[in-house]
Amino acid sequence: MELKTKLYINGQWCDGEGTLDVIDPSDESVIAQITTAGDKDADAALDAAHKAFATWSKTSPRYRAEILRKAFEIMIAEADYIATLVSKENGKVFSDAKGEVIYAAEFFRWFSEEASRTPGDFRHSPSGDKRILVTHQPIGVSLLITPWNFPAAMATRKLAPALAAGCTMILKPASETPLTAIHIVDILHRAGVPAGVVNYILPIKTGATMSKLMHDPRVRNLSFTGSTEVGRVLIKEAADLVLRTSMELGGNAPFLVLDDADIDEAVKAAMLAKMRNGGAACTAANRILVARSVAAEFTQKFSAAMGALKVAPGLTEGAQLGASVSMKERNKIAELVDMAKGAGAEINIGGEKPEGVGAFYPATVMTVKKDNPILSHEVFGPVAPIVIFDTDEEAIAIANDTEYGLISYVFSGDLSRAIRTAEALEAGMVAINRGVISDPAAPFGGVKQSGLGREGGFTGIHEFLETKYIGVEI
Ligand code: NAD
Repeated sequence: MELKTKLYINGQWCDGEGTLDVIDPSDESVIAQITTAGDKDADAALDAAHKAFATWSKTSPRYRAEILRKAFEIMIAEADYIATLVSKENGKVFSDAKGEVIYAAEFFRWFSEEASRTPGDFRHSPSGDKRILVTHQPIGVSLLITPWNFPAAMATRKLAPALAAGCTMILKPASETPLTAIHIVDILHRAGVPAGVVNYILPIKTGATMSKLMHDPRVRNLSFTGSTEVGRVLIKEAADLVLRTSMELGGNAPFLVLDDADIDEAVKAAMLAKMRNGGAACTAANRILVARSVAAEFTQKFSAAMGALKVAPGLTEGAQLGASVSMKERNKIAELVDMAKGAGAEINIGGEKPEGVGAFYPATVMTVKKDNPILSHEVFGPVAPIVIFDTDEEAIAIANDTEYGLISYVFSGDLSRAIRTAEALEAGMVAINRGVISDPAAPFGGVKQSGLGREGGFTGIHEFLETKYIGVEI
């Protein structure tokens, strides 16, 4: 399959103003040189999206649904190729990449189904003086900005609902992992998305170019997934033109193992919750909180499972833990571990930065006190700090002691106790006795500084729709 590397504007693959090397973090080799965009390319993308909105927003939901369904089918047929691309540019192992691609494709299928189900409302006003008609219309041109950790799924989680709603868009993926996003844009092209509806750019100067776009009144919506730090900057920028925003930001998930939990099941789930994607997930279990009476058994079994992982480049047969996305990200992980050690963390396994080529870091388990500073950082790697607690109330207090509120995990043999705990946790999502709950059919998103809005589920399409009330004299 031909590797696409150019910008995609108004239905054409275009040259831009410069180039950027995409690096394989497992051996630091150059995979491809891609085209980058200057301001005039960004303007051309906005012109195209603005023009296409007039016709795309008027297409029938069924027409849009069928294009999305076609995109789903192409993506599934090409899943191995795309997973290889994800693994090469992101560093994650092939099995994680393949899982991501299937999950990503499911957003096309889910929103192909949702496109024709947008609810409306028709009511008598309470006083009987009029009729209340409520309908939903596509917002307009949307900017979609995505991170490097799930280069396929974070793109489709925005592209699919935006297309289903009838919006047009400009996609800007992370500069570390653009090849997957470009391929997905090509799938949409082949599935029949008309020119101008989806545009892809990778600016030379990200901040300046995206800021310029956000200050053009033709842009109506910003859908961002990335760090809380960048999210805060963008919320401030969005304030100037009161741009609608949805923000899927950082997380620092607690994983609670209560004293009546099935420890073998909890270990299996903790491996998934912590290690899917090599630990580089906003949903990653970053603070493992374990009841004192089961702490020794859990720590021993969890450390054994972590220590048994095969660390190798993502496409190596049997690899279970690949490279981080870049040397810079790998070094950040190493610095956080060193900081934790300096504050008294006891290392159970791992904890040393390897020498040599590639952005690798070993699976690391440490036992820390509840005031260890590593607990207030989002560790985007294979590092699991364990904290021992004495009561459920103490566990809940530690879990909630963070600016983040994306997801929490609870393990207990008593469902009522688990639900009571879930209700007390400050998080947009809670997993009970499971290590993964992400599902295109469920609303994904956080509270506190983990974000605004929800993606997926029945609400996901509303991130791209405006509610309109029409009052009718009778
Ligand atoms: P990041 O915030 O550094 O970058 C995200 C995107 O924003 C990239 O495309 C980047 O180029 C772009 N960007 C950076 N500065 C910008 C600016 N000034 N203007 C416009 N765009 C700008 O995040 P990252 O390192 O790529 O990804 C990791 C972060 O993403 C983690 O914090 C993780 O928790 C978060 N994340 C959240 C979710 C979620 O659904 N809540 C999902 C995946 C990742």
